[in-house]
Amino acid sequence: MSETLFEKIINRDIPADIIYEDDLSIVIKDIQPQAPVHLLIIPKKVITKLSDSLEEDRDVLGHLMLVARKVAKDLDLDDTFRIVINNGAKAGQSVFHLHLHLLSGRSLTWPPG
Ligand code: AMP
Repeated sequence: MSETLFEKIINRDIPADIIYEDDLSIVIKDIQPQAPVHLLIIPKKVITKLSDSLEEDRDVLGHLMLVARKVAKDLDLDDTFRIVINNGAKAGQSVFHLHLHLLSGRSLTWPPG
């Protein structure tokens, strides 16, 4: 199977603005930001989408949440941010390698569009 866009970024084949990385994850700035702060929190393991994740992915899925907490703290986001996962093309997913969007820096209305 061909590499996902995010694998290419993880492997440094495509440049990205990387703001955090550890053994299990990488955090980059979204290339088309929808808020003053728009980060993508990406597992290094390729999970196509959340609904394809497995019981064995429990640790990595939990880790992504803790990374979200860490970067929000490090960037001093005042405890104000939104995490979004688009699951499936009809829900707006365009890159089929699981990722959390972290949005902050503007007022975030509800319900989201
Ligand atoms: P989604 O539509 O939920 O799959 O989110 C994919 C996100 O990846 C979108 O918000 C895109 O703007 C973002 N994106 C696409 N290409 C790149 C890239 N080369 N570097 C950073 N973000 C990207």
